[in-house]
Amino acid sequence: MNEVNAQQASDNRTPRPGSAAAAPRILVVEDEAALSLLLAYNLEAEGFAVERVERGDEAELRLVESPPDLVILDWMLPGVSGLEICRRMRAREATRTLPVIMLTARGDESERVRGLTIGADDYIVKPFSVPELMARVRALLRRSRPDRVAALLVAGDLALDRENWRVVRSSRNVHLGPTEFRLLEYLMGKPGRVFSRAQLLDSIWGLSAEIDERTVDVHVGRLRKALALAGERDPIRTIRGAGYSFDETFGKSD
Ligand code: CA
Repeated sequence: MNEVNAQQASDNRTPRPGSAAAAPRILVVEDEAALSLLLAYNLEAEGFAVERVERGDEAELRLVESPPDLVILDWMLPGVSGLEICRRMRAREATRTLPVIMLTARGDESERVRGLTIGADDYIVKPFSVPELMARVRALLRRSRPDRVAALLVAGDLALDRENWRVVRSSRNVHLGPTEFRLLEYLMGKPGRVFSRAQLLDSIWGLSAEIDERTVDVHVGRLRKALALAGERDPIRTIRGAGYSFDETFGKSD
């Protein structure tokens, strides 16, 4: 990212993309180890700082010691239940407005209503798609902590506006389909990090998607074509045998 664009980004009350100090903190309270790991992996890939706990009573301690920016809270937990944690959070001044997304295996409408009346901001039923949960996390954080979520990703002559779903390259609008937009957003969010086709499929199409890995190549191809319509430099790197990444030198050397 060059200086001019860094300035533009901060004018839009946006922290420098990728700066560690700006990373919103998310507490994941989930006793299913595999799900907890999956969530942490995906949240970290989006640039969030993640803490994980398995028990309700541990979560209570963390919430008192240092409240995060958002909590993903499982309903059924050992120790104290998610519902009870949420109720107590709402009763305490420090955590009264802290955004909470409840996770539950139950699809029962009356339980859903109970969760929301107790003060959860959102509610998602297992099994859920990871991209869906990520979208809700971003939406909630944007509402509660607009200063902590970068609305604008900038690298060189390329800017991606998450709020308005717009991509601009050298002051020309780049028209992307929704999948290409999410691909670029994902790769641009972690410059230099290499994502395998399987990781991209999981994160962008969702875990349950039964899609051939070559689909990723097709969409990356479309994205590249749209980005370099005027013959500009390709910001996406193909790492043979590994996957794709957003070139971390893009916009720095030219
Ligand atoms: Ca559980």
